[in-house]
Formats: sequence, structure tokens, C-alpha cells
Amino acid sequence: MKPAPFDYIAPTTIDEVAAALGAAEGDGKIIAGGQSLMPMINFRLVKPTIVIDINRVAGLDRIELHGDRVRIGATVRHHMTATDAIIRQHLPIVHEAMHHVAHMTVRNRGTFCGSVAHADPATEMPMMTRFLDGTVIAYSQRGVREIPAAEFFVGSLVNSLEQDEFVIGVDLDAMKPDAGWGFEEFAKRHGDFALACFATTLRCVDGIASDVRVGMMGVGETPLRLEEIEDIIEGTDVSEPVLDTVADRLAQILMPNTDIHASADYRRHLSGVLAKRALRAAWSRANHERLQAR
Ligand SMILES: Cc1cc2nc3c(=O)[nH]c(=O)nc-3n(C[C@H](O)[C@H](O)[C@H](O)COP(=O)(O)OP(=O)(O)OC[C@H]3O[C@@H](n4cnc5c(N)ncnc54)[C@H](O)[C@@H]3O)c2cc1C
Repeated sequence: MKPAPFDYIAPTTIDEVAAALGAAEGDGKIIAGGQSLMPMINFRLVKPTIVIDINRVAGLDRIELHGDRVRIGATVRHHMTATDAIIRQHLPIVHEAMHHVAHMTVRNRGTFCGSVAHADPATEMPMMTRFLDGTVIAYSQRGVREIPAAEFFVGSLVNSLEQDEFVIGVDLDAMKPDAGWGFEEFAKRHGDFALACFATTLRCVDGIASDVRVGMMGVGETPLRLEEIEDIIEGTDVSEPVLDTVADRLAQILMPNTDIHASADYRRHLSGVLAKRALRAAWSRANHERLQAR
């Protein structure tokens, strides 16, 4: 299909973007990488009267470390996130996750923040934002608003941005140097959307798990942070009986969809398998880091 007619502008400052979005009164769309927006426009699933291109706005194309938070700007491409030195050092789990994202052509255009704004519950970057205590930095003519990830993801492809707000960056918690991590996803082909994915970071303090974080995607209407599962693991030795308890509990609490790709039961079973693999890897890395730090 061909898109419905729309105007296009490419402002060079965030204030010009904010003014254009405000003037559009809900009929404007930001374009970053266009990898999700253009298919939606071509299928007429969305019909903006104006498309506002943020790619010429200076300063949004950076990844920066501010204290213990990493900021990813709104025009940072997937390829940059996947290869950046700050990400590699301070967020190795994001570095790993990016290698599961799509294919080269999509990675060259798609942006981390565009994916977060798109809020697809089966994609890596919203999950990383949710489980690494991310904050979405929104901007409008009213100024900056910081939105915790827990409030940002409202439903499948639904976020909590006001119609005149756009994302200028996302802040993530940097990982502690001695943190171990595990990331396991299963997709039918490499680069496809995941059927399920389990991500975890944890530390080993005096032989027990501490600061446990657990995130999942593909098994709910939004990316998930699973505090109940974190509580099961926290303070244990991450032994096989603990992993069995985690898998059993996941099978009880997850409410995934059945669709043409997989049944809900299959996704529940898969979640337990992925959880065990990711937790074993995280525990092994945490112990390795701890011993190296001595
Ligand atoms: C074949 C294919 C395979 C893919 N596989 C994966 C995958 O495995 N994993 C994965 O995570 N993703 C995957 N994607 C999606 C890809 O990562 C997209 O690039 C991403 O979802 C959207 O980023 P974008 O910069 O292209 O956003 P755009 O397409 O430009 O925008 C997407 C939506 O977000 C809004 N938006 C964008 N930027 C902003 C902003 N700064 N502020 C407010 N709203 C904004 C737009 O208005 C639009 O509604 C795939 C895409 C394709 C085409």
C-alpha cells in the first residue's frame, strides 16, 4: 500500500521539534530510524498529518556515562549501541542483547529510543529499560519530564507519553563491576522477534546472591520486571533446587499469549528453561568477577 499524504519537516533543535509536535495536536509523528513507523504508515495503520524527523537535531546521537547512569540519546542507532565502549564496559548485558536485535540493515537505522517509544513487548530495548531501572527523558514545550520505565510501558505498543512529548534520551543503571549477568532468548531464526527472553543481573556477596534483577519479554503485554522471582533468588546460593523453584513459579505467574508462533503453554515452559540457563550464567560470571576482584 501507499501512505496517506503527510507533511515532513526536519528541525534542528529540540525546541523546534517540541513546537511542531505541539502544533500538530496529536496528529504528528516523530520519525527516528523509521524501521517501525514507515511500515505502519505504508499499511495506513497510522495516518499522521506531519512526520517530524529528529535526525538533524544536534547532540542526540551520543552515549554518555553520568555517574552510575548511562544515557542513550534519541538518535543513537542499534549498531552504535551494539559496538559502543561505554555499553560494553558498564552494561555488558545490553551489549549482548543488541546482538539479538534484527538484522544489519535494521540495526543501521533503528534507534534504541525509537524502540522504547514503540513499546513492543517482544523487543530487547524496552525490556532492558524496564529491568535496569531506566528513566525515559521526555521533552515538550513544557520542558523536561522524567518518566520511570515502570510507568512508561502501559500496554502492547502503548506508552505514557503525552501527545506533545517526545523522547530525547533514556537513562539506564550502569551495572556494578562485580555483577554477573545472564541473557537468554529464543527466536525461531536469529534476528526474529523472541518467543520469550529472560535477563538477569546479580552479585555474589559472601557466597549468596545479592542485588538480583530479573526481566522478561515476549510473555506479557509489556516488558516485565519480576520482583517476586528476584525475591526467590535473593539470599540463596542459586543452586539447582532454587532454579527449579524459579521455573515452577514462572509457570504459575506468567500469562503469555497463544499466537501463530507458539502456544501460551510452550512459552511458559520455555521461560523456565531460559531462566535456568540465564541464572546459571549470571551466577558463574558473578563468582568469576568476585574472585578476580580479590
Ligand atoms: C525486519 C525487522 C526486524 C526487527 N527485529 C527486531 C528485533 O529483533 N528486536 C527489536 O528490538 N526490534 C526489532 N525491530 C524493530 C526495530 O528495532 C525498530 O527500529 C524499532 O522498533 C524502532 O526504532 P526506530 O528508530 O526505527 O523508530 P521509528 O520507526 O522511527 O518509530 C517507531 C515509533 O516510535 C516513535 N518514536 C520514535 N522515536 C521517538 C522519539 N524519540 N520520541 C517519541 N516517539 C518516537 C515513532 O513516532 C513511532 O511511533 C525489527 C524491525 C524490522 C523492520
